[in-house]
Amino acid sequence: MKQEYETVIGLEVHVELATRTKIFCGCSTRFGAEPNTQTCPVCTGMPGSLPVLNKQVVEFAVAAGLAANCKIRNVCKFDRKNYFYPDNPQNYQISQLYLPICYDGWVEIQTESGTKKVRIHEMHMEEDAGKLIHDEWEDCSLVDYNRSGVPLIEIVSEPDMRNAEEVIAYLEKLRMMMQYLGVSDCKLQEGSMRADVNLSVRKAGSSELGTRTEMKNLNSFKAIARAIEGEKERQIELLEAGKPVIQETRRWDDNKESSRAMRSKEDAKDYRYFPDPDLPPVLVSEEWIAQIKSRQPQLREEKAAYFQEEYGLSSYDAGILTESKHLADLFEETAVLSRQPKKAANWFMGELLRLRKEEGMEPEEIQFTPGHLSDLILMQERGEINNQTAKDVFKKIFKEDLDPIPYIEEHHLKIVKDSQMISGIVEEVLKQNPDSVEQYRNGKEKVMGFFVGQVMKKTKGKADPAEVSKCLKEKLAEF
Ligand SMILES: [Zn+2]
Repeated sequence: MKQEYETVIGLEVHVELATRTKIFCGCSTRFGAEPNTQTCPVCTGMPGSLPVLNKQVVEFAVAAGLAANCKIRNVCKFDRKNYFYPDNPQNYQISQLYLPICYDGWVEIQTESGTKKVRIHEMHMEEDAGKLIHDEWEDCSLVDYNRSGVPLIEIVSEPDMRNAEEVIAYLEKLRMMMQYLGVSDCKLQEGSMRADVNLSVRKAGSSELGTRTEMKNLNSFKAIARAIEGEKERQIELLEAGKPVIQETRRWDDNKESSRAMRSKEDAKDYRYFPDPDLPPVLVSEEWIAQIKSRQPQLREEKAAYFQEEYGLSSYDAGILTESKHLADLFEETAVLSRQPKKAANWFMGELLRLRKEEGMEPEEIQFTPGHLSDLILMQERGEINNQTAKDVFKKIFKEDLDPIPYIEEHHLKIVKDSQMISGIVEEVLKQNPDSVEQYRNGKEKVMGFFVGQVMKKTKGKADPAEVSKCLKEKLAEF
């Protein structure tokens, strides 16, 4: 029965822009400050205060719009969205309804079943609300206005997605795009990227849309995937039982893995939108757009192509290394400094991935100085350290950003090339193993490996293997 249904999903994604100051005042946007320490009359909605638009917000919105193939409006306006809630001190939110800055775009996503375009209806600029804190006190809720007035773009997709996999691919795509543009860090857990999921089901093959619900409170990709599954099942069960789906906003509780109705879904008319009289229209000239376009950095796909072309990486490696902008930057700096891009890629694809997995770290949490890894690569390249030392030291660079040169020096980890010292040890080994020497004489050349092993053991693996072989051959000839 259930196969007969098709799920139709559209997303409203809020992205906090990485400006230093808020959208309409000079307050800082830094995350994690003491409550209400980053506020002023404008962002706390005091009477008589006037908003002034932050130019950087417009530039970021245009950059995001261009990356998502949107058309950019040369004249756009701000509107007031009226609603009463304590996190919203003005009793209205400044947003864009009638003339959003970017519209009619698309992004391409990749899933198991191939590539697909998801159309973007619009991207508009707006201000974030404050934050209510409910849990810490029994008899009251308190409000923190630090977030009030932090700039957002809301990215509204068309209902083009059909399952959780496509939704996650779309969100990943947007996240990468924003991170590479430097427009937002898109941290779901800090709320700098938030997704509301609009979902309806319909009989497969039908072109009519069913009644949709909107789910909020989704703060991880996994929660989003579970919420989609849960809501799809709930709606199908209703329809199968002959009951209607009610258009409403639902809150997903990821612990209970179920959702509950929050409020009936408002339409635009419920918000009594009207143009904000305090803000003049925003004029975005073609010259300005061209300027922003000329400054657009490489996006993920371009970066991956560049890594393949410039550094000869495989498309698989380039894909993994560009999975996060932070990781791509670390790799590129290491590659450039060491001039050993393949070696750098080997470290990133091997030990680094392994340790990251072991520690359960997000790519953004990896912090080391690329110069340190570059020094290690070069020492290994010059044959100054053996593979085991390189591996041990790499771990320390990964975990504590260790500077390898003084560390290797202090701990005497360099390979011993001193031929006099090696020759002494070789003699010692040969004297201690007369039977093996005899075997070697009788043509059993395999014992050579045994001798090398013994010398390495005595030097704790630090003797230069080439030097050891050479010396052994000489000594065995004399013996
Ligand atoms: Zn302020």
